[in-house]
Amino acid sequence: MKTIQAYRFALDLTPTQERMVLAHAGAARVAHNWALARVKAVMDQRAAERSYGVPDEQLTESVSWSLPALRKAWNQAKAEAAPWWAEVSKEAFNTGLDALARGLKNWADSRGGKRAGRPVGFPRFKSRRRTIPSVRFTTGAIRIESDRMHVVLPRLGRLKLHESARKLARRIEAGTARIMSATVRRDGGRWFMSYTVEVERAERTPTRPDSTVGVDVGIKQLAVLSTGELVPNPRHLVGAQARLRALGRALSHKTGPDRRTGRRPSNRWQRAAARVATAHARVANLRRDGLHKLTTRLTREHGTVVVEDLNVIGMLANRKLARHIADAGFAEIRRQLAYKTQWSGGRLLVADRWYPSSKTCSGCGTVRTKLTLAEREYQCEACGLVLDRDLNAARNLAALAAEFDTAGSGPVAGRGADQKTCVRGRVAAKRQPGTAPAGQTGTVPPQGGTTDRVLNRAH
Ligand SMILES: [Zn+2]
Repeated sequence: MKTIQAYRFALDLTPTQERMVLAHAGAARVAHNWALARVKAVMDQRAAERSYGVPDEQLTESVSWSLPALRKAWNQAKAEAAPWWAEVSKEAFNTGLDALARGLKNWADSRGGKRAGRPVGFPRFKSRRRTIPSVRFTTGAIRIESDRMHVVLPRLGRLKLHESARKLARRIEAGTARIMSATVRRDGGRWFMSYTVEVERAERTPTRPDSTVGVDVGIKQLAVLSTGELVPNPRHLVGAQARLRALGRALSHKTGPDRRTGRRPSNRWQRAAARVATAHARVANLRRDGLHKLTTRLTREHGTVVVEDLNVIGMLANRKLARHIADAGFAEIRRQLAYKTQWSGGRLLVADRWYPSSKTCSGCGTVRTKLTLAEREYQCEACGLVLDRDLNAARNLAALAAEFDTAGSGPVAGRGADQKTCVRGRVAAKRQPGTAPAGQTGTVPPQGGTTDRVLNRAH
């Protein structure tokens, strides 16, 4: 099975190398902005001509947005637009032009109704202050040195890694991986090397193909499994979160930017903001790391993994940091499980976002109308069951899989199948689960439940 996968390693750049990378990222921005200005000028010109009643065939010729066309135009203009062009790799300009080509395509597709999701705005000029510096190489000398602690890129030369690249190097040596592109990017005050790699994976099957596990992602602990296991947060995460909160408070006491008055942030604010960004990146990294270990273990063992859908509405409404971090965990665990179940030959089921996994009794299926966040224990009024709130939710998720399989649709899985199959109510299931249009909200009756339980889905 061939998959596209990213490998990311932290870099230790020397000051000279950092200047070189920044020069390349700057060049990417220059090419992007130059090409955007050109596209905009022609669009504005045509719009103006149209408003004077110029017939369509006499309008200024439109310019192509494709990457080859943008590249051709840039190569003709670069001597004038960027007389220093020879000092950086041509890949730097390509980075900027490619980003613009994709941005324009996304905007056009979004406007033409060919793209789902939130409407995409017209590409904006990239500012030096706000753009995350990054440059991508797709051709030339891209390799990992045999010591696995250094990488080589065109123009930038030999860069030192902060961590060993042995995992990727081993695959390349074995001939099961091929680097397609390499990107150097700054993230939260650190530099990273990230490779897009085509990987040939062996077909696998989970060690227990018939086993199902429900996963409830939490805040206090990383996750609770329907098996009763509490997966603790990674060590250091609690400390890193406390540091992030403290830094956030410190930041709020300093003079930040104000758009209304045009006030520029103080130097102290900028330094504090940089520290917050670093702490944020560290929390995210620690959490992601813990989730990776968990998702690898789960997908290698269990044939079916069930998680909850991302709570989009809750995400928008909640501004607390803890919730924010947990929500990021939701998205991340789903992303990881989606591709890892595919690798391992298992399947991922995603419970509908309206499925009351926390409010349903995993023993008898009764749904409670109210359950506050403060109630850490689930107590069932109908059957008297008392157990940990998250464990109850995880068990409900696991039970959904059995219900889904007996609902007449059969196991959905298999390699190549849509792994993000949504578990939906009986009505939706008739229309083939997973193919229901986005935004439609089906409801799963809890444990062979009756319709009155389905309706009883107040949050
Ligand atoms: Zn009960």
